[in-house]
Amino acid sequence: MIDILEKYRCTGCSACYNSCPTDAIKMEADRGEFLFPKIDYEKCIKCNICENICPIIKKKDILEERYVKPIVKAAWSKDEDIRLSSTSGGLFSEIAKGFMKDEDSFIVGAIYNKDFLVEHYITNKVEDLALLRQSKYIQSDKKQIFRRIKEKLDQDKKVLFVGAPCEVSGLYNFLRRPYKNLITVDFICLGTNAPKVYRKFLEMLKDKYNSKVKRVWFKNKTYGWNLFSTKVEFKNGKIYLKDRLHDYFMRGYIGKKKFYIRECCTQCQYKGFPRVSDISLGDFWGLGKKYPELDQDKGTSVVLINSRKGELLYNHIYDKIYSYDKDLGDAINGNPALMISPKLNEKIDDFYNDLDQISFDKLINKYCKVNFREKLRIMKSEIKKKLGIKEYL
Ligand SMILES: Cc1cc2nc3c(=O)[nH]c(=O)nc-3n(C[C@H](O)[C@H](O)[C@H](O)COP(=O)(O)OP(=O)(O)OC[C@H]3O[C@@H](n4cnc5c(N)ncnc54)[C@H](O)[C@@H]3O)c2cc1C
Repeated sequence: MIDILEKYRCTGCSACYNSCPTDAIKMEADRGEFLFPKIDYEKCIKCNICENICPIIKKKDILEERYVKPIVKAAWSKDEDIRLSSTSGGLFSEIAKGFMKDEDSFIVGAIYNKDFLVEHYITNKVEDLALLRQSKYIQSDKKQIFRRIKEKLDQDKKVLFVGAPCEVSGLYNFLRRPYKNLITVDFICLGTNAPKVYRKFLEMLKDKYNSKVKRVWFKNKTYGWNLFSTKVEFKNGKIYLKDRLHDYFMRGYIGKKKFYIRECCTQCQYKGFPRVSDISLGDFWGLGKKYPELDQDKGTSVVLINSRKGELLYNHIYDKIYSYDKDLGDAINGNPALMISPKLNEKIDDFYNDLDQISFDKLINKYCKVNFREKLRIMKSEIKKKLGIKEYL
């Protein structure tokens, strides 16, 4: 049975929860509302399937062939609306559209639910892609999505699954055999954030703006892609829009030592190569320094093609995107999260103790102070913004 996991070893992929034949596993929330498996011993028949499919205990099973060194592209969608409403270059949407040929093709990705929390969702409707689009920087609740994916695959339907690398790994382990009709896309991942912390952030904003939330949009491009901003729209028509150095949520996420990522992210097993998925997507940070013509501050994706399956799908969408061959070194230089796990702040316990005690803005001002260098960066970027000068990360 799976309850031997130390917290920092469980990614919350939900493969165990999905695999239990007697539904003896529940996913229980911790202090950050991250989900962890909990066994009901009365229902458990000690079959050990949960342990056998756990990607951490049993190690990740790469069931399908992967390139040791991926093919690297810098790319973006030719459709300006898709590009601007996506987090990076809109490659997810183009890949998904290229994959969805008929009603037997299903896309599985993360959406906001009615409370603006995140969960995985399956659809065969192109119009639903707008719900899946955009990074939601909190951990998704997978519920029983792996079971639904297996059902579709066993019925010979095609499925494209998008998730964090650990979620893709959980899916492969749950399935326990390769499927020709499954293709996977992961993203370069800085770590996933605690739903409770994000909930507190939204509660603070609801109080300040005296209204319910209508829409959450991380990495909004109003101020440009490089200054990625958080935009929250309220039902009363008001708008919260702050760049990454001013936004309360991003300040605690992008700092060197993080307060609310999942503990396991500090020892992520999915850094480096080969990648777990057929295609990996990310932001091509740093590209503008070397190739200014490829960064129009509207979002440029780094695409890592990790398998023949991924290559075939990518070739299929060529006429919908601008795509440039790049070196792996270029991708790694701008994006340390490809290779290195993030670190947790030593004051994380104090942070969580204060989470229910003080308002979110006070909490962030207390723990995520903007130091002199960052203040200077803010000043510089504001001046540049006013002068209309581009800024590259
Ligand atoms: C938690 C997190 C951390 C990330 N860290 C980095 C990083 O350090 N460096 C980097 O280059 N890129 C990172 N990314 C990826 C990046 O933000 C973009 O998602 C990616 O480049 C794809 O952008 P796009 O424009 O092609 O498509 P988008 O339209 O932005 O597509 C996003 C896709 O990701 C899925 N998705 C969104 N949120 C979640 C979630 N919480 N859980 C599972 N799936 C989700 C959606 O279903 C959609 O399929 C991160 C993404 C997330 C969610």
